[in-house]
Amino acid sequence: MNSIFSKIINKEIPSDIRYEDDLCIVIDDINPKAEVHLLIIPKKNIKNINSANQEDQMILGHLLLVCKKLAKDLKIADSGYQILTNVGEGGGQTVMHLHFHLLSGNAVTL
Ligand code: AMP
Repeated sequence: MNSIFSKIINKEIPSDIRYEDDLCIVIDDINPKAEVHLLIIPKKNIKNINSANQEDQMILGHLLLVCKKLAKDLKIADSGYQILTNVGEGGGQTVMHLHFHLLSGNAVTL
């Protein structure tokens, strides 16, 4: 099923896209939980990590390297940041299209 993120990827609804390439887009979270709160979203409609397959290995690695690039560009690489992905309703996932949260500024403590 298509999520709000599919509509953003397909430019059916407007958003400030902070980064885009063939495999992913990056947007600001609409309800930021930290000073920096970006969402790194694959263009492929993968529901969450549970739904990822071996064939998605390259996409998953790419998403992490995009996080690293964004952290460098935003000058938070040295001060530190978090990469988080929620899996399923019990894991706090509200949008059922895989995404990594990139957070910096007020760390979520585990
Ligand atoms: P999760 O709870 O891990 O599924 O994260 C979904 C995130 O998407 C939440 O942090 C929301 O604030 C964010 N979100 C929902 N709709 C939008 C939107 N239209 N644009 C940007 N972020 C959104």
